[in-house]
Amino acid sequence: MTDTMTSLERIEATIHFRKPDRVPVDLHNFQPAARATGLPMSEVFQNGELLAEAMLQAWRKFGHDMILLENGTACNAQACGLKVTYRDDMAPAAHDPIIKSLSEVADLEVPDPYTAFPMNEILKATRILSKEIGDKVWICARADQGPMDLSGQIRGLNEFMMDIGYGEEPELIHALLDYSRRVATRYAFALIECGGHSTSIGEPLGGPELLSPRHYKEYPWRHEKAMVDELKAAGIILHNHICGNTIPIIDDFIATGAQVLEIDHKTDMHIAKAHARGKTTLLGNIDTSILTYGTPQDVEDACRAAIDILGPDYGFILGPGCAMGPETPDDNIHALVESAKKYGVYR
Ligand SMILES: [Zn+2]
Repeated sequence: MTDTMTSLERIEATIHFRKPDRVPVDLHNFQPAARATGLPMSEVFQNGELLAEAMLQAWRKFGHDMILLENGTACNAQACGLKVTYRDDMAPAAHDPIIKSLSEVADLEVPDPYTAFPMNEILKATRILSKEIGDKVWICARADQGPMDLSGQIRGLNEFMMDIGYGEEPELIHALLDYSRRVATRYAFALIECGGHSTSIGEPLGGPELLSPRHYKEYPWRHEKAMVDELKAAGIILHNHICGNTIPIIDDFIATGAQVLEIDHKTDMHIAKAHARGKTTLLGNIDTSILTYGTPQDVEDACRAAIDILGPDYGFILGPGCAMGPETPDDNIHALVESAKKYGVYR
C-alpha cells in the first residue's frame, strides 16, 4: 500500500491520537549520519551547516518521517561552561563539573542559545532543515539534557547522586534542577522559533537503573513536569527520553505530561502500552544492538513485534530505543523504515 499522508501529517495525526495511514518512523541517527559524510564526526558535531547536511543526506537515503536533530549529550553542558571533548568515533563528552558545592548554583547564568556554542550551531541546523524539508518532514530539534542530566554534569555525577542520597540540602538540589530546567526550556523555545516541530529532553540519569523511583518522583519529576507545562502553555510538544527499563516509574513518567515518551528495548511493551494508551505517544523501542549487530531480518522481526504490541489505537512511532551506534549498517536502517510500511498500515 502506498502512503497517503506526508510524514508531517502522519506524525501530527499520531501525536494527537488520530488515525494515520501507517505507523510513522523516527531515526535517532546523529552518529551514523555524521559518520556517513566521511568527515570527522568531531567536525560535523560542531558545525550547524555540516550537521544539517548530514541529516538531510540520511533523510534522502532512508525517507524516515521524523528527524531527531542533536549533536550528542553535551550541548547544554558546554553552553553552561563545561569542558567538552569532541571525538571522531562517538558522541562528544562533557567533563569537569563547574560547581564544587550546591550553594554555587545561585551564581550560574542561563546561556542565551542564540550566542552560546554549540546551541547556536544547532539552531542554525534547525533553520536549514526547516527551510529545506520542514514543510513535509517532522523535525524534532532536541533541547538536549533535561533537568536531571544537566544537573549531574554541572555538579558531577557521583557528587549529585550523593547529594540526592543523603538528601541533606533538598532546597539546593531543587535549585540546581530548576536552573537546569531553565537552561533546557530557554533552548527549547529557541529551537521551536527556528523551525522545530517539537523538541525533546534526555534524562538517562533519571531512569530506575541509576535513580530509585522514589528519588525520581522527589527530585527531577517536578522539574520535568514544570518544563512540559511551560512549553505546553505555548503550544510546544516535548518528548521525554529515559533510557533502560522505565516500567518502575511508568506512571510518573507519563504524568510529566510529555506528549511523546521515548522508551528503550528494556521497557516491557505490553505494560507500557497499557499505561500510555490514549495519554501519550510512545516512541521506540528497537534494541540499538540489534540495529548495529543484527541482520536486516532480525531488525524486521523486532519491528514487527513492536508494531503488533504498540501500534494498535495509534499513538506509536517506530524507532530505535536510544541513540543508534555510529556503525549501524544502512541495510538495517532501511529494514527499520520499510517495516513500518510493511506491517504498520492502519486499515
Ligand atoms: Zn537512551
